[in-house]
Amino acid sequence: MGIPLSVYGERRVVLLRWRRARHGDPHLNYPDVDNRATRAPELAPVVGIQAGEEAVVRLERRAIDPNAELHVVSSDKGKVDVVLPADGKVPSGPHADIRLSGVSGGNPNEVKLEVRFGSATGPIVSILIVRCFSRRRVVMTPHLVTIAGPTGAGGIASTANVAAIMSHVRAIWRHCGVDFTINATVNDTLNFASPGVVSDTPFPGEVATLLSTNWVPNSINAYFVQRIGAGGTLGYGFSRPSSVTFALPNPGIILADRAGPAVHDTAWAGNDLAHEAGHFFQLWHPNNQQPPTEREDTWSRRMLMHNFNTQPIMSNWKDDNGYGAIGGSARRGALVTHKDIPAIATDRECTTARNAIVAGPY
Ligand SMILES: [Zn+2]
Repeated sequence: MGIPLSVYGERRVVLLRWRRARHGDPHLNYPDVDNRATRAPELAPVVGIQAGEEAVVRLERRAIDPNAELHVVSSDKGKVDVVLPADGKVPSGPHADIRLSGVSGGNPNEVKLEVRFGSATGPIVSILIVRCFSRRRVVMTPHLVTIAGPTGAGGIASTANVAAIMSHVRAIWRHCGVDFTINATVNDTLNFASPGVVSDTPFPGEVATLLSTNWVPNSINAYFVQRIGAGGTLGYGFSRPSSVTFALPNPGIILADRAGPAVHDTAWAGNDLAHEAGHFFQLWHPNNQQPPTEREDTWSRRMLMHNFNTQPIMSNWKDDNGYGAIGGSARRGALVTHKDIPAIATDRECTTARNAIVAGPY
């Protein structure tokens, strides 16, 4: 098969592409694929899978015939095996979803998933690096907070759908082998200055009291309240170091149901909670850049650790991070990066987070 092509300098021909096998909310079995960049040291895209679990990834045919015979082959079936297609032969068509099994985990156990042309031993036309992670457990304690006025009257409870929000957090982190165990929800009742509101002015206001209410050690405490202050704050995250910086009694995360006209829906709150957990695991915003110089590239906007959840509109294809939209604004993605791209100081986030979880406390 010949390909007539003029090449001056370098030209890259992408026969096949790997990507997340669904659009919209994160899912336990549908990991995002770190397909940023194609240069050394990590030439191929990378995906993570937790040992003992299955993951589905999508193989797209680009510059190759939709009927070309292709086979997917694991370089080490003892670590990661192909479940579907059972015989490894890729179905015809513009794309096919490949189901993998994490057979044996490490930190990580890495295999090459090879796409071979013509037969299972034919030439390799694409590679996906699959990292199979041993399970690292993190415990989270949700608090559903009812805030009454000073006399105990007029209590207003958060209406957050805690179970659904927690399932988003679990789905986002599973692909780094980080397995969230969710404690039973603690119901807290507090008397503050205004029903339903935890005041944060002057800082820390009532935040300090909240973070010392029924706080459960050896877990990440997440407090759901109706509102934080009177402004536009939808959430706070205080990791252990930042709780010391701000002279707070404990680390913890606070999420509000609403701020002004903004309603923190499940996908938004779940993504925010997973992002704040990332800060607990020593992750920072992409390349440590803060507004007004936050990164605006599509890689960064797809990352869980991007500065903003609802994202500035570009009015072009960059507005699709693959996770849907809210109110016309692109949702932040949920990619926790595997690659270590030299120009991005904060990269290789899965490794950083897993190391921080082992080192603890966070
Ligand atoms: Zn942040």
